[in-house]
Amino acid sequence: MNNILAPYAVCEANTRGRVVKEAPPAGRTEFQRDRDRIIHSKAFRRLEYKTQVFVNHEGDLFRTRLTHSLEVAQIGRSIARNLHLNEDLVEAITLAHDLGHTPFGHAGQDTLNACMKEYGGFEHNLQSLRVVDILEERYATFDGLNLCFETREGILKRASKKNAQKLGEVGKRFILNQRPSLEAQLANFADEIAYNNHDIDDGLRSGLISLEQLEQVSIFSRHLVLVKKKYPNLGERRLIHETVRCMINTLATDLTEQSIQNIEQAQLDSLQAVQQSPPLIGFSDPVKKEQQELKKFLYDNLYLHYRVMRMSNKASHIIKMLFDAFGSNVRLLPVKYQHKFKQEGHQAIADYIAGMTDRYAIKEYRRLFDITQD
Ligand code: MG
Repeated sequence: MNNILAPYAVCEANTRGRVVKEAPPAGRTEFQRDRDRIIHSKAFRRLEYKTQVFVNHEGDLFRTRLTHSLEVAQIGRSIARNLHLNEDLVEAITLAHDLGHTPFGHAGQDTLNACMKEYGGFEHNLQSLRVVDILEERYATFDGLNLCFETREGILKRASKKNAQKLGEVGKRFILNQRPSLEAQLANFADEIAYNNHDIDDGLRSGLISLEQLEQVSIFSRHLVLVKKKYPNLGERRLIHETVRCMINTLATDLTEQSIQNIEQAQLDSLQAVQQSPPLIGFSDPVKKEQQELKKFLYDNLYLHYRVMRMSNKASHIIKMLFDAFGSNVRLLPVKYQHKFKQEGHQAIADYIAGMTDRYAIKEYRRLFDITQD
């Protein structure tokens, strides 16, 4: 497969560039440079100890936000290449898409958002952009990673009109109701394909959901039947892996074929035309339906499972206690964040908490509330 870019792909010739001008990179593309900066960032290394669904100490084999991000990148790159889109850009976006996530997954995000209600709220997409635009401190001549516009645009998956107004160029599409690049659209779908499938795998491994339950879910059961037919004597672990593998393959193929059709129908011929077109990356209708059914199943049976909820409840408690403690006595914050608080108010507390790994948050909680700890 050659990887000549389509005329509607983002490329180095049509990139809107970096906020701070830099000399072009030697020996790699601009988007490879973005990917490399992301991989070398502190926020990226922290993903290893941030929860996807299961908290890090619950087991060694569950996905963390780091392995999740790697799976998203792998799926995204394969599809990008098949669609003649910019694989390096998709890789950069997917590796960075969760950099702003709080510790403890969605429970952490929701709690921090509630705590920040009076101070502008907290949204992990915005925070991911904040990490790459401002919070990383590595380079001599700029704050953040000074990434290309298209990488930043892809990271900012969502924004309210109110928030978008504060973000300059990168927020404009939410105000003008325009679409981001096809690479950004693809990154979202790669995320969805990755988490639906690895959550099935992790859910089964944890014993919180069973094969019998999943047999009621059409996309899983139709692939399970195929695998069983081909390999009638397969042990359960391999049976699960083969089924998940086939599902990922089906979804990637369906997404590729349907998107090609959409692109052809829209007679897309340039990157500018992407902005004005409806979303063009997408599943076929039957697969979309199956995906919705699977999502609902995972939501009802895994994400709301009482054992996951108990962990979420503890996570919310930790985040709220930390936020309230720092908010009511700023001198409990590390000195650097006390200074930041003077300039940015409660956003400094949100930055500190959002940057924590699960285990750092647990440690910090103990240091603040357990009299036997220092
Ligand atoms: Mg994700």
